[in-house]
Amino acid sequence: MAVDANHEEKIIRSICSSHCGGTCEMKVHVRGNRIVRIESDDGEYKPRLCARGHAYRQRVYAPDRLLYPLKRTGVRGAGEFTRISWDEALETVAGEMNRIKARYGNAAMLHFCSMCDPHTLHHVGAFHRLLCQFGGYTAPWGFISHEGATFSAGVTYGTRRKFLSQSEHRLEEYLSSRLIIMWGWNPVTTEQGTLTPLFLAQSKEKGARFIFVDPRYTDSAAVFADQWIPIRPGTDGAVLIAMAYVIIQENLQDRDFIEANTIGFDQFKAYVLGLEDGAAKTPQWAEAISSVPAATIENLARAYACNKPATLATSISPGRTAYGEQYHRAAAALEAITGNLQFQNWLSAPKKKAVKFNPQLESPPNPVEAGAPPRKNALPFRGVSVNSSARVNVSLFADAILKGKAGGYPHDYKMIWLSNTNYLNQLGEVNKTVKAFQQLEFILVTEQFMTATAKMADIVLPVCTFLEREDILAPRGGGIYALLNKVIEPLGESKSQRQICQALALKLGLTDYGDKTDGEMVEHIVTRLSEEVDLPDLDSLRKQGFVFGRPKKTEGGGQPEDKKIPPTAFPTPSGKIEIRSEIAARINDPLIPAIPTYMETWESLNDPLAVKYPLQLITPHLKRRAHSQFDNLPWLRELQTQAISVNTVDADSRGIRSGDLVRVFNDRGAVRIPAKVTERIMPGVVALPQGAWYSPDENGIDYGGCANVLTKNQISPGGAFTPHTALVQIEKVGQ
Ligand code: SF4
Repeated sequence: MAVDANHEEKIIRSICSSHCGGTCEMKVHVRGNRIVRIESDDGEYKPRLCARGHAYRQRVYAPDRLLYPLKRTGVRGAGEFTRISWDEALETVAGEMNRIKARYGNAAMLHFCSMCDPHTLHHVGAFHRLLCQFGGYTAPWGFISHEGATFSAGVTYGTRRKFLSQSEHRLEEYLSSRLIIMWGWNPVTTEQGTLTPLFLAQSKEKGARFIFVDPRYTDSAAVFADQWIPIRPGTDGAVLIAMAYVIIQENLQDRDFIEANTIGFDQFKAYVLGLEDGAAKTPQWAEAISSVPAATIENLARAYACNKPATLATSISPGRTAYGEQYHRAAAALEAITGNLQFQNWLSAPKKKAVKFNPQLESPPNPVEAGAPPRKNALPFRGVSVNSSARVNVSLFADAILKGKAGGYPHDYKMIWLSNTNYLNQLGEVNKTVKAFQQLEFILVTEQFMTATAKMADIVLPVCTFLEREDILAPRGGGIYALLNKVIEPLGESKSQRQICQALALKLGLTDYGDKTDGEMVEHIVTRLSEEVDLPDLDSLRKQGFVFGRPKKTEGGGQPEDKKIPPTAFPTPSGKIEIRSEIAARINDPLIPAIPTYMETWESLNDPLAVKYPLQLITPHLKRRAHSQFDNLPWLRELQTQAISVNTVDADSRGIRSGDLVRVFNDRGAVRIPAKVTERIMPGVVALPQGAWYSPDENGIDYGGCANVLTKNQISPGGAFTPHTALVQIEKVGQ
């Protein structure tokens, strides 16, 4: 890599802004307009960069970076494009938007911007403002990563705060825990809450016992586990409910905590003991469902109830299954009835004062949502807009495009704009999404690389990386504030997301979108934030990059010293933790029951389909990617090969050895990929890491290893994405 020897090396600070959702500090070494090195900040308790962050320089200078606007010349998906000017690209986009608006109405336009990148100016607000000023569009609802957890928190606590507590408070809770149950969580790889492995290590040194419940013996289990409990995908709720059975039968529940802080324990107890349906949820009942031995469930229940403080670290991953919200609700019930919930810091920490100045880009209401009633499964803590029935669940765009109004969706969809997301690759049932996208009249993608999604576009607009533009991380609830300094000028003709929206706004004749530069916006935000938050001045912030900003005045809302929870602490109908949820009851849907309930998933091993496809597929994260980001980087590809993990028993019965090429298939598609034969996954389950780029041959067989070729385009009743509920078969096709 050529380096400008005439320029002195400077260090510029930023935070990594990738799809993992982390905020690790970066020290970027620059000579002239060239990044020469990226390193972690070395401060104590500061999130260290993972391999992806260290490799970001290769992403910036990747030879396949998109640096100019492109227009499709071949068939959709072929990846044949020609370079065009920004003017032609924006004219085309504006013309198509005006045409579709005039012919079909604004609701015919779908837009989705990934929620992963932790930035302000270039996030969903930039697009939302533009599209609402244009007369509206169909927006998505639901979080791809954690809708199951969000739904559970909404019906149990009336707030999303408990879910957020996983990243905000749990780290210190680990240090005071005697027992830590890591349920479906592999933080050594996923880095969710980047300091988690450090705190786990310190907890281990202090003597905490670790139990991992997971179909895989993960890297985190290899480092920390005293015990590994393999469990069948989609059966977590059954085991948690059977643990409640043991606790109730042995009278291990915390009666005082239940009495003071919860409602609905008696109804839950009646369900657990089988008083209404005649089926006691015993450990033997759960063993038949989950393959976890009854004795193991009994011991786990006793350990959790009797070793306080104990942490039940429930990952959002098992919630990405059919009825995954029931897993989260069952875990919440268990935390409450054992009283372990009282040791969680989020209960006793003062509420963070919301910053009155909204640092996000302000937007008019979306006209498409005006007058639309709320969805049936709306959660009260969400605003009217997010709850609107005019929206489409983020996982169901393909279904909505294919079925439209005739299939019960609010509109017929003719155009999609996808920003910051490899949507086609990352949502369920890729071949269905391909079919849906083929039907659209216009597709706009704003991207950095020619992903599977970009290949479907009519126009691709090149976006610069976060190191080539200004931004600020400014949470409304306080916490970490960070300046994302512009480290180098944008490569080629790439622009920031907000600059693209500004330019398109002018083409659309929207003169009030805003003409401030990104730098001026950052300055404006810092000035306004400083009225409410203790922040250094802009120059100091630029040098420091990353600060803990405290609201100038703290607001009440914390717990008294004795840690008693006030009787109306929760924004639920009762003001208490609702084991029996009134919000869920009002939804009046048997698939969203009022109490946490185990429901067998579709495509379980009892499904007749299991005769043809006897293996359960899970699609975990890989440490060399953040979702589909970074899959193309050679430095990171050296770290790990994309392969499907198969247990020795399943491999032997099919004559498969490690390294063999196998075909993984079901009715939705087929993937050819090397096999990794291992004891680190339970028999009957196979793991294909998500995020590999879809690369089909002329017969539609994917050679990239894209897991979502095999997953199903169906959401859980609460709205969760369900990629860990899929049956497949594998066969050896070569060596
Ligand atoms: S990709 Fe790695 S370095 Fe970047 S934020 Fe995530 S964990 Fe941190």
